[in-house]
Amino acid sequence: MTPDSWSVPPELEGKRQMKADDRFTFGCHPKVACFTRCCADINIILTPVDVLKLSRRLGITTSEFIHRHTVVPLTKDLQLPVVMLRMGDDPQRRCSFVGAEGCTVYEDRPWACRMYPVGMAMPPARAGVEPEPLYFLFEDDFCHGREEQGSWSVAEWRRDQGIEAMEDLESGFRELMTHPWFIGGRQLDPKRMEMLFTACYDLDKFRCFVFDSTFLDRFELEPELVEQLRTDDEALLRFGFRWLRFALFGEPTLTVRPSHRRTA
Ligand code: SF4
Ligand code: SF4
Repeated sequence: MTPDSWSVPPELEGKRQMKADDRFTFGCHPKVACFTRCCADINIILTPVDVLKLSRRLGITTSEFIHRHTVVPLTKDLQLPVVMLRMGDDPQRRCSFVGAEGCTVYEDRPWACRMYPVGMAMPPARAGVEPEPLYFLFEDDFCHGREEQGSWSVAEWRRDQGIEAMEDLESGFRELMTHPWFIGGRQLDPKRMEMLFTACYDLDKFRCFVFDSTFLDRFELEPELVEQLRTDDEALLRFGFRWLRFALFGEPTLTVRPSHRRTA
């Protein structure tokens, strides 16, 4: 796929496109007739921050979370890893986090759940052009939120839903996904896809890789950073993005120790 042939993801096709300051009417609260109807039979793509926050909330490792709560479609045509929230096995396919009172992981709910009814797509990188997000409005028949009071711009909605607070980490991930390296339709080989998946989504496995392999012998890292990476998940995720820029795209974001430099 070349950037020129890019089209919005299928789930956003035909939706009203919005700019950050465009307004829409919406309200969602436990008294709406459709309360939690949006929490079933739905494709929710998880970001690395979602996987991290939900696994910590549930008190399990990222590996366990991925195993129990996600679907990772693996097809040979996939250009980047995709991690989706697994819906329940009941006939309605309800999200396993929905309860009688609503979302039981509300404070750590996924990015896509926060954004709804706004959708977002990032066009792929193009030479000399910084990719800008495109916003869309879902106007699903099952959702009565647009009959409620509340007028929002996209930017206000993002702020209200706590999206802005995690923007720094989320944007680090998006910058990888839309990196200029992909211009012209270049694809990662399976080994590099696995590296990308592990460093972004399976943070506990990535921590083992950093501390239980020869990683720290190979790279020069400040001792304070090494200590931080042992316990600070967000610092580790940021570091994972930095390492991926080095390992996947050849950016000089890390320094190899002289003893491990390859000589011609
Ligand atoms: S108003 Fe829309 S978002 Fe809110 S509970 Fe109903 S279907 Fe879900
Ligand atoms: S995580 Fe929460 S808000 Fe999102 S679908 Fe599940 S129950 Fe609904």
